[in-house]
Amino acid sequence: MRKIIIAGNWKMNKDASETSKFCSELGTYLKKHDNERVLPLIAPVFPFLSQAQGILRSLPVAVAAQDVSSHAEGAFTGEVSAAQLCSLEVRHCIIGHSERRQYHGETDALIREKLLRLLENGIIPIVCIGETLQQREQGRTEQVIISQLEGCFDQITIAAGDQIVIAYEPVWAIGTGKTATSGQAQEVHALIRNWLQTSYGSQAAADIHILYGGSVKPDNIRELLEQKDIDGGLIGGASLKIDSFCTMIGLACELSSAGGN
Ligand code: PEP
Repeated sequence: MRKIIIAGNWKMNKDASETSKFCSELGTYLKKHDNERVLPLIAPVFPFLSQAQGILRSLPVAVAAQDVSSHAEGAFTGEVSAAQLCSLEVRHCIIGHSERRQYHGETDALIREKLLRLLENGIIPIVCIGETLQQREQGRTEQVIISQLEGCFDQITIAAGDQIVIAYEPVWAIGTGKTATSGQAQEVHALIRNWLQTSYGSQAAADIHILYGGSVKPDNIRELLEQKDIDGGLIGGASLKIDSFCTMIGLACELSSAGGN
C-alpha cells in the first residue's frame, strides 16, 4: 500500500547551523508523531547530508539528495556520484527538477542517465516532470508529460513499484504561489499512473508514489492529498519552516488514519 510522502526540497537554502536546528526540531516532532503510513523526507544541500542523517538517525524520516551526476565516477569537477550517495546511505534523490532543466539545460536524455546511475546504486529517484504555463495554455500538457515520461524512462526496466517516485510539478506553480487545483493535479496524476500501467504493469503502477509539487502549503495540502492518485507533496518554500513542515506531516498523519488517500 502506498504511503503519503511529505518531501521538503530545500534547494540552496540553510547553512550548517540552520540545518542542525531544523533537524533537531524535526526529530523532536517525529518522536511524538510516528506514523508508518507517512514518510517525511528532507533534501538538504550535499555538504549537510551527513549532518542531517546523523541528527535524524533511527527516526522515521528520509534524507535525500537534490541531484546526482549522470557519470559513474572520474574527472567531473563539482559533481557527486550515485555511488558516493550510496556510500552515505542516502536512499532517495531528486532528479530532473524544473530548475535544473531551466538553469542547467538538463534534458530528458540526461535525466535518464541520472536515473540509471541511481537505480544501479539502489537509490530511489524522485523524477520531476511538469509542463510550463505556455504549454498548458496551448493545450499541450498531456503531450508534454507523456514525452517527458518516455524520454526519462526510455528502455528503463522497473522491477518493483518501490524503486522509483515521480513528482508532477507544473513549472508555472513552482515558487509562484499559484497551485494547480486539486482537479487539475489529479487529472495529470491519473494520466501518469495510466502511462505507468501501460509501461510497467498494474502492480508496479499501483505501487509507485506520485507526488504533486508547486506551491504546496499547509492551507492547500489536505485537498491535494485527498485526491486518489496524489501520494504526497514535493514542497519547496513551505518546507523550510519547521512549523509549516510539521503541520503538513501532521495533516498527512490525520488523513492516513482517517483512511484517506
Ligand atoms: C519545488 O521546489 O519542487 C517546489 C515545488 O517549490 P514550491 O513548493 O516553493 O513551489
